[in-house]
Amino acid sequence: MKPDKGAQQPLLEVKGLKKYFPVNGGFLSRKKEFVRAVDDLSFYVNPGETLGIVGESGCGKSTTGQMITQLLEPTAGEIWFEGCELTKLSPEEIRRVRRDMQIVFQDPYASLNPRMRVMDIIAEPLRVHGLAKGDQLKKEVLELLKVVGLGEHHADRHPHEFSGGQRQRIGIARALALKPKLIVCDEPVSALDVSIQAQILNLLKKLQSEFQLTYIFIAHGLPSIKHISDRIAVMYLGKIVELADRDDLFARPKHPYTQALLSAVPVPDPALRKQRIVLSGDLPNPAKPPQGCTFHTRCPYAQALCRVKAPVLEELEAGHSAACHFPLPGEA
Ligand code: SF4
Repeated sequence: MKPDKGAQQPLLEVKGLKKYFPVNGGFLSRKKEFVRAVDDLSFYVNPGETLGIVGESGCGKSTTGQMITQLLEPTAGEIWFEGCELTKLSPEEIRRVRRDMQIVFQDPYASLNPRMRVMDIIAEPLRVHGLAKGDQLKKEVLELLKVVGLGEHHADRHPHEFSGGQRQRIGIARALALKPKLIVCDEPVSALDVSIQAQILNLLKKLQSEFQLTYIFIAHGLPSIKHISDRIAVMYLGKIVELADRDDLFARPKHPYTQALLSAVPVPDPALRKQRIVLSGDLPNPAKPPQGCTFHTRCPYAQALCRVKAPVLEELEAGHSAACHFPLPGEA
């Protein structure tokens, strides 16, 4: 697929990105096996936009986010950020680039050091990069707390004294401390109550327009992705199976897997309710993916060709790509 990036130069572009994890093939096995967690991903993100990445647990979406933010080394592929190919940079150069790309994790409690005060948690990246100290450091932390909707009195407390939503606000403040250009939000609302999810999503949207941020927003369900994304990539077993503008994807899904995910989204109006498509079986073992189209074991439309030939991601309409031999024609 050749993406239409418009007139803009993408902030981030990944090409042929792969991450294979070796797995033990058994005591007597000589053959080395690999889990293809991410298998040949290519996409771009324009400045100021939000690319949503959605898929079931184990589809490779978080691994993708960790490779982009340099927390995991890719097996192969290129990651271009502002014209620099990150996999070719020295550790010192990577350290500098990391300031511009931050990550917000799913579990705000596990990602915050329980022994540190909030002041020190948010100040840490500024200290590590030598960007502020003394009164200036304190001033910047207090300002960040205000920006994420917390008060100055929260600075001396520890993470266990906060609710899940407040802890996620602290995680966001820490991610904002270095004034990044790109933030990878790795399931930032999955562990929160529904009412709190909306507050955090609204906060992320507000911060995006205030600080011209670019997001990659990872989630396993479509409702939160719909709320925040401009474009959405649907992943299945380490590959993108569909990529489109948000409204187009929701109105006219072309891949049967996207159609099944959409059918599970609750609709408030009973007249508009669609029949739920329940996928049979579990996600196949990524160490032994099915031949041909990896979705054929669960696809209600699978035909003989699907069992032998893997479809490639192709642009079927302007800005709308899918990897399917028999793409769906019309409305969701
Ligand atoms: Fe289903 Fe075949 Fe399309 Fe795969 S290629 S999604 S099995 S119709």
